Amino acid sequence: MIVEGAVLDADGPRPGYARIRNGVVVETGAVGTDGRRGRERRVRGIVVPRPVNSHTHLGDAMFGREPPWTTFDEIVRPPTGVKFRLLATTSARVKVAAIRGELRRLEQRGIGAVVDFREEGIDGVRWFRRAARGLDYPILVFGRPTRRPIDPVEVDQILELADGIGLSSVAEEPAAVRRSLARACHRRKKRYALHASEGSRESADEYLDPRPDMLVHMTCATDDDLVRVAEKKVPVTVCPRSNALFGRRPDLARLERLGVTTLVGTDNAMLNQPSIWRELEFAYVSARLAGRPISPAFLFRAAFVNPWSWLGMTERARLSPGGPARPLVLRLPPDDPEYQVVVRTTEQVMVRA
Ligand SMILES: [Zn+2]
Repeated sequence: MIVEGAVLDADGPRPGYARIRNGVVVETGAVGTDGRRGRERRVRGIVVPRPVNSHTHLGDAMFGREPPWTTFDEIVRPPTGVKFRLLATTSARVKVAAIRGELRRLEQRGIGAVVDFREEGIDGVRWFRRAARGLDYPILVFGRPTRRPIDPVEVDQILELADGIGLSSVAEEPAAVRRSLARACHRRKKRYALHASEGSRESADEYLDPRPDMLVHMTCATDDDLVRVAEKKVPVTVCPRSNALFGRRPDLARLERLGVTTLVGTDNAMLNQPSIWRELEFAYVSARLAGRPISPAFLFRAAFVNPWSWLGMTERARLSPGGPARPLVLRLPPDDPEYQVVVRTTEQVMVRA
């Protein structure tokens, strides 16, 4: 297949074509120079690498009802929020099936990798791995130890199977716990991440100690907080739809202006469908609605470029012939490709390559 129009990847947008065979880019160039007139299927559109959903909680996907109109704490605060009561009363079989269904749909919707935060200790991670079995794309799971004081055996078991540890927040976990878990992660070359400044501002002194490999939300962070996060080169994953349900929004314009490495995720599956496309459109539109617009290029990098670097798979964000990126073909007008991709992509415009 030859896709003519625009190529958009870590090197930015450019007019051109990409020839794709068996899901791999085999050739790129300027429009009209491919020399295969009429012998191959041609599509007019945009070729991009696959986006990454950098923050999900797929474990609560089985709860599909309208989220109650109540406080954040009553819904997702451990251990008494609706979510945690639900997890405790749902069978492993049902949870595994729900996670597996979502992981399949993520791939069908064009996702290239996913980073999930799994509660419920070692069982939670085991169930997640069972759900992901046989699926052929990078699926990362961050576990959360449940025993306090910290039980090194539990932590060890979790890190044996998980890609890291993802904590609720500094409000739930004292510094000593955070430090010992971060040390355990890094000893095993795994990652340590946590939610921060989600419902109210927390001190950067706290969530940056120890330095996390990723912060999630930062809805209530100030300029000074974000400057420090940027200085420490800690990436921030934003989840605008999830925040919006509680009347909040991450100030994306500020993240863009201050040069914070930003990633995007869809957060709890019980709150929002884990579609990165809906998340990106909402992020763009809500930023304009708030009078704090952001560039489509910033959002493109947050979903298609920055997470691949974070994962240590930088080349998956670059559409070079023979490279490891799995291209996604979108039948969209090739003008202004970042805007098109970020705001107008639906599953219906994806072309099987
Ligand atoms: Zn989360």
